[in-house]
Amino acid sequence: MIDLTDRLIQPTPFRAANGNLKWHAPRRILQTLCGALLVVLPLTNGLRLDLRRDEFYFAWHKMAAHDLFLLFWVSMLGVALFSAVSFLYGRLWCGWICPQTLASDFADSLKKRLDKAFRARPGEKSAEAARIVWVLSLLAMSLGTGVVLACYWLSPAVVGAATLAPWRDVPAGLTVYLIAGVIAADMLWVRRKFCHRACPYGPLISTMTDTNSLAVRFLTERADECISCHKCEVDCPMEIDIKSGVGQHGCIGCGECVDSCNDVLGRRGIAGLIEYRYGTEPERVTKTLTTTERWGLWDARRVAIAATVPISLGVVLFLIYGTLPLSASLTANGAIVRTGAEVRNTYTLTVGNGSPNVTRFDLSALGLPTGRVEPGFVTLAGHTNRTLPVTLISTRPNPGRTPVFLRLKAPHTGKDIATIFYAPPRK
Ligand code: SF4
Ligand code: SF4
Repeated sequence: MIDLTDRLIQPTPFRAANGNLKWHAPRRILQTLCGALLVVLPLTNGLRLDLRRDEFYFAWHKMAAHDLFLLFWVSMLGVALFSAVSFLYGRLWCGWICPQTLASDFADSLKKRLDKAFRARPGEKSAEAARIVWVLSLLAMSLGTGVVLACYWLSPAVVGAATLAPWRDVPAGLTVYLIAGVIAADMLWVRRKFCHRACPYGPLISTMTDTNSLAVRFLTERADECISCHKCEVDCPMEIDIKSGVGQHGCIGCGECVDSCNDVLGRRGIAGLIEYRYGTEPERVTKTLTTTERWGLWDARRVAIAATVPISLGVVLFLIYGTLPLSASLTANGAIVRTGAEVRNTYTLTVGNGSPNVTRFDLSALGLPTGRVEPGFVTLAGHTNRTLPVTLISTRPNPGRTPVFLRLKAPHTGKDIATIFYAPPRK
């Protein structure tokens, strides 16, 4: 028995009486932050793939949705992050970050609070009233979530208009109300059943973890200290018994059972029997780990998998910030027209905007007497290319071939492209 009576403290939301960390409050804080991020990102242009407008927003930069190279690397960053978190920290993703758990926790916790507020008793009108308020709250919450999630694919203005008048923009309206419907069904009826029966992550995680991945474990070597209070089972949102073994399919690694055991045994001055722990070895108690081990970096394989995250992030940042701001080429297409004194030469211009922002490039002709260019400017979305005809025009050209430059000028960049302007002799 690990006797901690000499270290008993007044329990707080973050510490049990035996001084051990409690996970419920930190988990709720992280869930709240993730929920807020989920809402803020699409509404502030932090993340959106708007195929209707051919726009891709990432980290508050606007780029072209057809920039598949960038999309590929953003996807790779997501895959790397997901794999690394899974391999190092097991199912912590499920219990601490997953939106499905967030929705289920919210629905369950709201039900408990409303039952308490209405002093609901089964079979009484108070229970019925609490349930009606619960259902209406979740329906409103689902519509709000549907609006927010639709903003990952469509602009907030389009989503707002389609929510108020779905018949005016049926595809957008359907998107909002279908998402809202699915979320309402999830929060009202499905909740944890999805994690138990339908979530593909459960079976997948077994291929992405090993015995040294972080998991919630019942310390079998101290099983004789269990007082069979069953609080760990009662408090488990997934209704499983962690004492039956580590890595059970339904366990989402939320840590509620860790808190429960620390609450019960902590008051008796005993260390809890359930812990987050890397591996099955008793010596891998969190307090004895080095800093790198504490972050789950046990061996070269873990370091390599974790390294894919900064590598992918580096590539994405380079693609956003590091590419050349402007690329351009010009080819004469042979169209030369003289109308009186005016001579027109037409070319094909290919211009690439390497910056993440929408940029206007002003076009002008250098070295061409009374020269001008049509069109006078070209505007490109971030990370897009465009090919277009441009015409150099002179009303007083030197006869024959004249070396000239087509100048592209934007606020922070520019380029002069050398070419030849040909003025045929007057007839
Ligand atoms: S067993 Fe513990 S960690 Fe797993 S889901 Fe239940 S309470 Fe959460
Ligand atoms: S909370 Fe702790 S003491 Fe109580 S049943 Fe669970 S493991 Fe045993």
